[in-house]
Amino acid sequence: MLTREEISDKAYECGFADVGFTTAEPFLSQRALLEERREEYAWAIRAGMDLFAGTDPQTVLPGAKAIIVLIEPYFREAFPPSLESHFGRCYLDDDRMIGNRLGKRVKAFRAFLRDGGIDSKVPFHLPHRLAAARAGLGTFGKNCLFYSRKVAAGGSWVIPIAVVVDRAFDPDEPTLEVGCPDWCRNACMAACPTGALKGPRHIDPRRCISYLTYFGAELTPRGLREPMGLHVYGCDRCQEVCPRNAPWLARQLPTNEKAARMVEDFRLERLLHMDKAYFTAKIWPHMFYMSDADLWRWKANVARVMGNLRDEAYVPDLVRAFGESDDERTGATIAWALGRIGSPAAKRALEAFLPGSVGPVREEVLAALEAVTAK
Ligand code: SF4
Ligand code: SF4
Repeated sequence: MLTREEISDKAYECGFADVGFTTAEPFLSQRALLEERREEYAWAIRAGMDLFAGTDPQTVLPGAKAIIVLIEPYFREAFPPSLESHFGRCYLDDDRMIGNRLGKRVKAFRAFLRDGGIDSKVPFHLPHRLAAARAGLGTFGKNCLFYSRKVAAGGSWVIPIAVVVDRAFDPDEPTLEVGCPDWCRNACMAACPTGALKGPRHIDPRRCISYLTYFGAELTPRGLREPMGLHVYGCDRCQEVCPRNAPWLARQLPTNEKAARMVEDFRLERLLHMDKAYFTAKIWPHMFYMSDADLWRWKANVARVMGNLRDEAYVPDLVRAFGESDDERTGATIAWALGRIGSPAAKRALEAFLPGSVGPVREEVLAALEAVTAK
């Protein structure tokens, strides 16, 4: 019969940085939170993530008796600044579609359990961070993230992976508390540009830039475009300002070679003009939350970023992209971006767009011209 020690040793041998054990009791506090914030999480249910079912490990694995939580660090290497400015670090480190080294290590760990007579499941909809805290592996931040007790210098650059098993183990002592220092005056909440952090450990995912950049269904509301700043895909702002992450951010890390090779393909101009073939070959293998049906959102995100960079060098690309796009959400965002850049060339382009524009695009062109004229 496999012991806790043997399982922990195997987890480290598979490359995980920490491991803990907890019971398979339902996550009742999470269920209550989901009930209370039903409206805020309705989109996840609509997207097929049954978060309610995930609060009960028995729905994942009938006969579940324990959860083994593995800690996988990311951001162990430095990313090129041109990528860090626009893309969340966890996505830059995600190799699930190219090699999937993490998936293979999880598989090897589960094969070890299976050979020891233990059945396991790794559900995507179980509250992994809560499981990690219940297994004593770290504490919460007020920004809703999980902070490791010993990985990433105590920072939040970790992914907890909950493995539900049909064998009981002595659980570790839970650490289900917020571990923020008293002297931090809620820097994460103050820094969140879109007001998604409504209070300690209360995020409205619908206002979070990460959600908006890859799940936002409609034209981004005008009031959020400037606050969303330079983020094309994901956002790390509430982690970057956090003093609990300062020790890791201060480290001199080696360069991430995979990310260094992505720089050219992920240049903003290329993203703005990409077609489905380019997206499928160069982008999707790294960032796959959006399909090729969502190119409009990629391009609207990039146009918004170009507008927020306020660099008139982007005007020719935005004009060309306006002509290439047949999606009014992209066209409208391009018009907004030109208005934000506000140079004479941007104004001339908006004037040229006006006669052929209708609906929301026309509204944005008119609003952008008004903004430019008021400058
Ligand atoms: S990821 Fe960005 S938008 Fe989302 S809560 Fe953190 S700071 Fe706010
Ligand atoms: S910024 Fe401050 S309040 Fe927010 S998670 Fe970090 S330590 Fe906690």
